[in-house]
Amino acid sequence: MPIDPSQPYDPDNVFAKILRGELPCKKVYEDDFALAFHDIRPQAPIHVLVIPRGEYVSWDDFTARAGDGEIAGFMRAVGHVTRQLELDGPGYRLLVNMGGDGHQEVPHLHVHIFGGRQFFQMVP
Ligand code: C5P
Repeated sequence: MPIDPSQPYDPDNVFAKILRGELPCKKVYEDDFALAFHDIRPQAPIHVLVIPRGEYVSWDDFTARAGDGEIAGFMRAVGHVTRQLELDGPGYRLLVNMGGDGHQEVPHLHVHIFGGRQFFQMVP
């Protein structure tokens, strides 16, 4: 079910629990701003999620409320992960689903990194 992006942050959402170490994940990278881990239902040979440490429901919430340093740190972390996974050579796809029309399911901002195969041209 897609989320309602106007809802307040739910501290019991599954990614909040992963951040607190209450649920396991297959960790790829972490720093002060972000945690990256393998998606449990991969849609590509490489499918990693990067989430901010801060409590943000969505991309919209993050870009409206987060400080510049937090946004920069998070973006840099996404770049670090793509290079760590050696995707900068062959290429990759980034995706953020936002709200109902974007079919966002987990109410904690996450950037999908897809790699390991060639993707079709995006057609909305
Ligand atoms: O962008 P959206 O919210 O639709 O994607 C949620 C993603 O979180 C899905 O790809 C799903 O497989 C992943 N997920 C996960 N671990 C969980 C719950 C969801 O990797 N415990």
